[in-house]
Amino acid sequence: MIENIRKTLAKYWGYDNFLPLQEEAMACIARRRDSVVVLPTGGGKSLCFQAPAVAMSGLAVVVSPLISLMKDQVDALAQCGVPAGRIDSSISSEQRMTVLNGIRNNKFKLLYLAPERLVSDDFLQVLRKINLSFVAIDEAHCVSMWGHDFRPEYRQLGSLKRLFPGVTIAAYTATATEQVRRDIAEQLGLDKPKMLIGSFDRPNLVYKVRQRGSILKQVRDVLDRHSSESGIVYCIKRKDVDRMCAQLAHKGYSVAPYHAGMEDVDRKKSQEMFINEKVDTIVATIAFGMGIDKSNVRYVIHAGMPKSLEHYQQESGRAGRDGLEAECDLFYSGGDYGTWKFLMKDMQPEAQKIAMVKLSEMYSYCTGGICRHKTILRYFGQNLDNANCEACDVCLGELSHIDDALVTGQKILSCIARLDQRSGSNYTALVLTGSREKRIIENNHDTLSTYGLLSDYSKDTVHNWIEQLVGQDYIEKTGEYNVLTITEKGRRVLNGQETPRLLKPVKRPTRISRVAADSWDGVDHGLFEALRKLRKTLAGKKGVPAYVVFGDAALRDMARRRPSTPTGFLEVKGVGEMKSKQYGKTVLTAIKAYCTANSLETDVID
Ligand code: ADP
Repeated sequence: MIENIRKTLAKYWGYDNFLPLQEEAMACIARRRDSVVVLPTGGGKSLCFQAPAVAMSGLAVVVSPLISLMKDQVDALAQCGVPAGRIDSSISSEQRMTVLNGIRNNKFKLLYLAPERLVSDDFLQVLRKINLSFVAIDEAHCVSMWGHDFRPEYRQLGSLKRLFPGVTIAAYTATATEQVRRDIAEQLGLDKPKMLIGSFDRPNLVYKVRQRGSILKQVRDVLDRHSSESGIVYCIKRKDVDRMCAQLAHKGYSVAPYHAGMEDVDRKKSQEMFINEKVDTIVATIAFGMGIDKSNVRYVIHAGMPKSLEHYQQESGRAGRDGLEAECDLFYSGGDYGTWKFLMKDMQPEAQKIAMVKLSEMYSYCTGGICRHKTILRYFGQNLDNANCEACDVCLGELSHIDDALVTGQKILSCIARLDQRSGSNYTALVLTGSREKRIIENNHDTLSTYGLLSDYSKDTVHNWIEQLVGQDYIEKTGEYNVLTITEKGRRVLNGQETPRLLKPVKRPTRISRVAADSWDGVDHGLFEALRKLRKTLAGKKGVPAYVVFGDAALRDMARRRPSTPTGFLEVKGVGEMKSKQYGKTVLTAIKAYCTANSLETDVID
């Protein structure tokens, strides 16, 4: 059976190999064993159930929480030549009848449904009459209260095993915690499920963290590196979204806003323009993202700090689903920490305690100078084997450790002590840099022995070091005004028993990550751009998103191999028989024209 599946993968999707754990996940379905598959975003979960569904007899039912997700997947399957249908509240009764007839006549291999519909009495009668191959449950963490997106309607899926005794269930999620995994198996009543847990590392994502300065400029710098590519800018508040969006539009960037305060139609319009590549960048609150399957998001910028690493991993994880390099930039400030802390003040004590721990860990991620990949993985209980990830600001050498971190740390901590542990980080930085601000003079703080001790540095640099010391637990921010107090650990620094890590940005050209270098290897950039334009035209004609026609990875492979024949075209990763039939002629003509005009060799074989 697995050989059949492998052939299906090549024929319909144009892929020769499995991604990690895909083969094992597919084998479970083929052997009719229940499974819980945990893979990160972009790990290729959809294919784990789509390929077996095509290779096996009967119809597979896929449960999905969002109409947009179902629509996207059914459209993408149609492009690959796989007959799939969906029934949801957005389709007309006529369309619904057509799908129901299709089910009865065995026309589909996959059927996408919302959970409540699957277990409705009417539908159960339909399903009882057909050959149900298996049930796949996408976004399975929605069944668990421990997850970040509990949906009560998912709970009804607990009756599936009773309603269809012996049916194989495969559950998929990108949510990593052990508790959620166990809960999924329990709530769905799975029978000795195989737990397949992938690595949570996303080596193609380049993580960068900087303290927020002139945020418009910082965001523009990233956008300028990705001219006419798709990306997301997340802001914490709606009004920040509106402001940022207006400023970027004013500067000529192609942007659209998205937040929960907008009218439904406007929000939908923004989303569609982004998906169909009519705008490059969406500026949004975290209301945007769930249900967006766009595979070629090349950058995700956070203009403010998220409240936990789970949130950060999820939001930044929307970049680079296609496995190609993508950039995740986070611009934080000590103020973000204060904002979240303020918003958490009315929580129940127990929940507040947990939220605060998560917030501190997020803050440590920002201020700590440790490999970002390693920090995120460790948070999810996994390890990174490589000493250098070659895909974060720390490992790419964009930050450097200062030489005299112990002495600098001691100067900062002594100043906090001299200020009787009653000042915030901004004020402390002013004193350390010898500011002549009125309030400092009035408070006589210009007479302290620590006044001006770090006057060789800018206030922002010193402020940043203070935040780094907070992130490493040498200083704590207490009370309503986030007053700095020295912790036990901080005392060890004062006594010279422990050295903190203090970083400063290095001014040098940004080095390219290893993944970026690899994925552009041999690719003709001009041809890639030409094919991108062609893809957009083809997608417009079909009324589907551009990435559904071909992913960026497929376009790069075309611009690398530059095939001149249909056989050569089928060799391209991500080109299956159906896509070759539909687009082969047009694309081959475009490749030929470009290669002739630019005297480029064709049919490059690796
Ligand atoms: P997930 O649902 O886990 O986020 P997807 O199913 O959307 O991931 O897959 C992510 C990307 O990887 C898609 O562009 C998909 O076409 C691609 N992909 C999936 N399986 C393979 C494979 N075996 N080889 C190459 N690319 C693959």
